[in-house]
Amino acid sequence: MALILGIESTAHTFGVGIVRNGKIIANKRDMYTTESGGIIPVDSARHHRELSPKIYSEALVEAGIEEKDIDAIAFSQGPGLPPCLLEGLKFAKALSERLEKPLVPVNHCVAHLEIGGVTGAKDAVLLYCSGANTQIISYASGKYRVFGETLDTGVGNFIDTFARYAGIGFPGGPKIEKFAHEGKNYIELPYAVKGMDVSFSGILTNLRQKLERKEGSLEDLSFSLQETVFAMLVETAERALAHVGKNELVLGGGVACNSRLQEMARKMCEERGAKYFCPDRSLLVDNGAMIAYLGEIMFNSGISFSGESAEKLDIKPRERTDEVKVRWK
Ligand code: AMP
Ligand code: MG
Repeated sequence: MALILGIESTAHTFGVGIVRNGKIIANKRDMYTTESGGIIPVDSARHHRELSPKIYSEALVEAGIEEKDIDAIAFSQGPGLPPCLLEGLKFAKALSERLEKPLVPVNHCVAHLEIGGVTGAKDAVLLYCSGANTQIISYASGKYRVFGETLDTGVGNFIDTFARYAGIGFPGGPKIEKFAHEGKNYIELPYAVKGMDVSFSGILTNLRQKLERKEGSLEDLSFSLQETVFAMLVETAERALAHVGKNELVLGGGVACNSRLQEMARKMCEERGAKYFCPDRSLLVDNGAMIAYLGEIMFNSGISFSGESAEKLDIKPRERTDEVKVRWK
């Protein structure tokens, strides 16, 4: 029996989740947003600092537990924005000292893959489409391996940057999805897949030019953006499935909330006889529950840090998925 609290703070979201024996019993979060322009790391960190006590108390209430019931505190160690990660680390360390409970450092990207377990996935390929990250990840021969990834920006940041050019604020993804819904004409855009990697910068430049020259309405451009870029992502995910010989696909990341991306991924899985798993929206976006969920798996296999070794724990802003030392599989 373990009761694990998980803290997420890698970018714009501060989240606290609580998991007991693989069941999520709380998942509270708050997201830093702006009216226009992108994410400013120190502002987002301030948001986390201000909101953390409130989110923490709400999570305890939702779970119906008391602080003393917590066995360990898992936190997102990386990758992410350093000021934001530091707020999460500080919060986790203070809690760990006060409650005298150990810390469990969790890799954010691996947590996105493993949370697929709540939907029944056992050994999946993750199509991880978030703001800063775009990767196709799976566990193979002792490591979480990156089979494909973006060669420049994350798909979410790409969509958000396009939205900023169009003057519609952050986050842009949900707004672009609405515009795309009204789009009728497909406007040709560059298609950039290289093996299992993708790139977005050329498409962004092209879209920016089309916006400035008014070659197409925002509706049509949004529609064309989604059709092109999601086809790229699904194509690379399919290639990764074939390459590693797995038959389960899990979606993760905020962009995976997009219903058109979900539809395209589901169809691809149907066509090749693979199982398609799409966790609930609250688990696709950045959240504390996935940190607690993987934290519990790690904790149960004996990974935890107390005392001096806990004090020494630091953030890992640039930790790559394949650098994660896997001692729990
Ligand atoms: P994450 O970094 O995983 O929390 O995801 C945040 C990113 O998801 C931001 O770039 C958002 O613009 C994007 N996003 C959220 N909802 C949608 C949506 N419905 N369609 C496309 N992108 C989305
Ligand atoms: Mg994420």
